[in-house]
Amino acid sequence: MKIFCIGRNYSEHAKELNNEVPENPVVFMKPATALLKDNQPFYYPEWTKDLHYETEIVLRVCKQGKYIKEKFASTYFDQVSLGIDFTARDLQAYQKSKGLPWEIAKAFDGSAVVGPFTTGFSKGEEGISFSMKLNGEEKQRGNSKDMIYSFDKIIAYISQFFTLQQGDLIYTGTPAGVGPVKIGDKLEGFLGEEKMFECEIK
Ligand code: MG
Repeated sequence: MKIFCIGRNYSEHAKELNNEVPENPVVFMKPATALLKDNQPFYYPEWTKDLHYETEIVLRVCKQGKYIKEKFASTYFDQVSLGIDFTARDLQAYQKSKGLPWEIAKAFDGSAVVGPFTTGFSKGEEGISFSMKLNGEEKQRGNSKDMIYSFDKIIAYISQFFTLQQGDLIYTGTPAGVGPVKIGDKLEGFLGEEKMFECEIK
């Protein structure tokens, strides 16, 4: 099982981190040990002082494919969920400044929070809305229709380089409003009105 993540897929978020809107999707990966499911708590690591949440729609790949054409891409996922792409922003900034890979800032244990997967969503033009509350206060709200690269474009792009396999997950990028968490915080993610996960920082 592979976990793909897309960076800078909402222009307002790219702007808030002073990143250019990319020419192609920015792709990185996390290992299976990054997954944090079933509302388990996240333990704040000692090697960062600036851990950020990024709330993202997560797609679950339902069949194998390579060089998938955009017009067929929607048949390659049948379930979605909501998750957090936890990011050690201080480490990421350092790695970026040196031109080094991001894994230590992005792919660490527990960095991929995800809720249960659902088939109860629409692939239509109205998009999928989502939000995240930190200690009861809404911090992020987004809709997949505001993504720079659509689900179909992401799948077509990734599958040029990597064979997609059933069970692979794709984190599709975060809207504006990312920010830090601290020990004791509680994050709750919602797809539409439905609560998909909660995660306590310990
Ligand atoms: Mg992200």
